[in-house]
Amino acid sequence: MVIPHSSSHPRAVRDLLKPTLPVSLRTCWINGSYVSEADAHVSIFDRSVLFGDGVYEVAAVFNGRLLDADRHLVRLERSMREIALPAPASSAELEAVMQELATRNGITEGLVYLQVTRGAAERDFAFPDHVQPTVFAFARPKKLSDDPNQHGIRVHVVPDIRWQRCDIKSTAMLAQVLAKQAARQAGAFEAMMHEDGLVTEGGSSNLWIVRDGIAYTRPLSRDILAGITRHVCLDVADEAQVSVVQRAFTVEQAINADECFITSATSFVLPVTRIDEHVVGNGAPGPVTLRMRDAYLARAHRLTT
Ligand code: PMP
Repeated sequence: MVIPHSSSHPRAVRDLLKPTLPVSLRTCWINGSYVSEADAHVSIFDRSVLFGDGVYEVAAVFNGRLLDADRHLVRLERSMREIALPAPASSAELEAVMQELATRNGITEGLVYLQVTRGAAERDFAFPDHVQPTVFAFARPKKLSDDPNQHGIRVHVVPDIRWQRCDIKSTAMLAQVLAKQAARQAGAFEAMMHEDGLVTEGGSSNLWIVRDGIAYTRPLSRDILAGITRHVCLDVADEAQVSVVQRAFTVEQAINADECFITSATSFVLPVTRIDEHVVGNGAPGPVTLRMRDAYLARAHRLTT
């Protein structure tokens, strides 16, 4: 992230805003134009800045190609519909932009982020009369096939303090920011959120446990995001020789499970080998988790090569 120099920032603040690592300027896309990240700006009156009034998607780039873009764009359409936000462009156009960003930025493994907001308007909670959505996207590299976390991560248990429409991929994510920061401070990679002891999902992933050879994941409802990766895992479960039951489980059951794993578009399938101070199973990635990860990766290769 590059913040342009501005004489209006006091010097100390300017120093804080400086990127800590040298980064080359990416090509981003905003409201129809490809621009350098230094020129990719939204208004302070944008409703996503003021209210978190926007929705987004993150899709993986694998072998230089978008993975499951169609499914991500169907979910984006749904998120927009659920918050009565007019689509700024067709899914085909947005998919073309996302692929072009991966290509222009030379990304072979990574992700593309796309956000649609209810645009800039005088600050008022109710919608403006004439909504002009803001839409922008950027890409970034990330190791996916050789993820350093594939050998196992720790999760940190936190109460789920979010709202009642977690099925909408909203940009209003303070609860997840706090959950994931608490996880980081606890030396964990991800949060395990729960409601009255029942696991909902990760801070930015879906959660699964394995008991006696059966994989369990919470059924879809307004309490969780319908993860694309979760869905793909259901699709490849037969190939992975994994039986799946969509049933909620408790934190206690997760701690006592044989295996636990998370799924998300940008981590695929990652073994959870620690839940706070508890070791899951024998502390190593379990066979069901590894078969699911392998089947997911095999499909990703098939779709992108
Ligand atoms: N739940 C939440 C809260 C998330 O933010 C994400 C990541 N988008 C997921 C689940 C996983 O969804 P997906 O597999 O589509 O990335």
